[in-house]
Amino acid sequence: MKAAVVRQTPDGYADVVEKTLRPIKDNEAKLKMEYCGVCHTDLHVASGEYGNEAGTTLGHEGIGIVTEIGKDVTSLKVGDRVSVAWFYEGCGHCAYCVSGNETFCREVKNAGYTVDGGMAEEAIVVADYAVKVPDGLDPIQASSLTCAGVTTYKAIKVSGIQPGEPIVIFGAGGLGNLAIQFAKNVFNAYVIVVDINQDKLDLAKKIGADVVINSAEKDPVDAIKAATPDNLGAQASVVTAVARVAFEQAVSCLRPMGKMVAVALPNSDMSLSIPTTVFDGVQVAGSLVGTRLDLKETFEFGRRGLVKPIVATRKLEEINDIIDEMKAGKIEGRMVIDFTK
Ligand SMILES: [Zn+2]
Ligand SMILES: [Zn+2]
Repeated sequence: MKAAVVRQTPDGYADVVEKTLRPIKDNEAKLKMEYCGVCHTDLHVASGEYGNEAGTTLGHEGIGIVTEIGKDVTSLKVGDRVSVAWFYEGCGHCAYCVSGNETFCREVKNAGYTVDGGMAEEAIVVADYAVKVPDGLDPIQASSLTCAGVTTYKAIKVSGIQPGEPIVIFGAGGLGNLAIQFAKNVFNAYVIVVDINQDKLDLAKKIGADVVINSAEKDPVDAIKAATPDNLGAQASVVTAVARVAFEQAVSCLRPMGKMVAVALPNSDMSLSIPTTVFDGVQVAGSLVGTRLDLKETFEFGRRGLVKPIVATRKLEEINDIIDEMKAGKIEGRMVIDFTK
């Protein structure tokens, strides 16, 4: 079968190679892949930034159909449609695994990174960790929800926002676009969006943002405060932009006891005022993908049409063109490899 793998000397691109899948274990299932989205994290893995994973099959936005199950599998049957997600498997018994925080398990395995992922014609999943895609949800949409969707949903969950409260989404790109839809359509928040790109802000407005602010034109912190009750600022902020300044603004724009949630992963530090943190009781948190339950919920919101990722399908052989386009920031939404043709 064909697979997109990390090059022997990782250089940020993938090789499409012929690979033989190993036999499945008793607790595993084999999938015939339908779709797999390309995520920025794939680019980090392919470049060797997270360690040398030469030969590993990329991809953690995979959707496939079960073709074979191991003898101990009870949660899946042949014909089921399931996902191959970044959170591939936890140990199942540590404090994080048993408290609903399994993505922070210290023994975690990640698809397309520490184990082979879904960017191949076939893949293997641990049956109890593969989340089923509900009938009625388009598998191409499901692929994008498997990483970008669940990541933004979880971040807003972590923010603790309540209906009607003001939340700021920094960055209106691929992740930001989904964050806006979740904040508006699932959490019923008052949604303020900050970006430097007017086209992305116009799109944000179209999909339901209440207020959009172009931070290339005005100070977003002042504008956010002016847009919130009593000019106090936002209750929560979620950063999907990679500019360091966005992280700092995302803290400055908070009302007392507000919470900032970091999702984007720039390789840098941010400055944080200790007095502001103490006197205003603000919280700064990180959020990492989502659990199996978060993904199940995300799929359900997708099925109901509350969130719609922007997707386009491509061929496996185009993987390095896609990587170039992503590096150049030319892609709107998600590119999804189509294995069905
Ligand atoms: Zn991802
Ligand atoms: Zn664990």
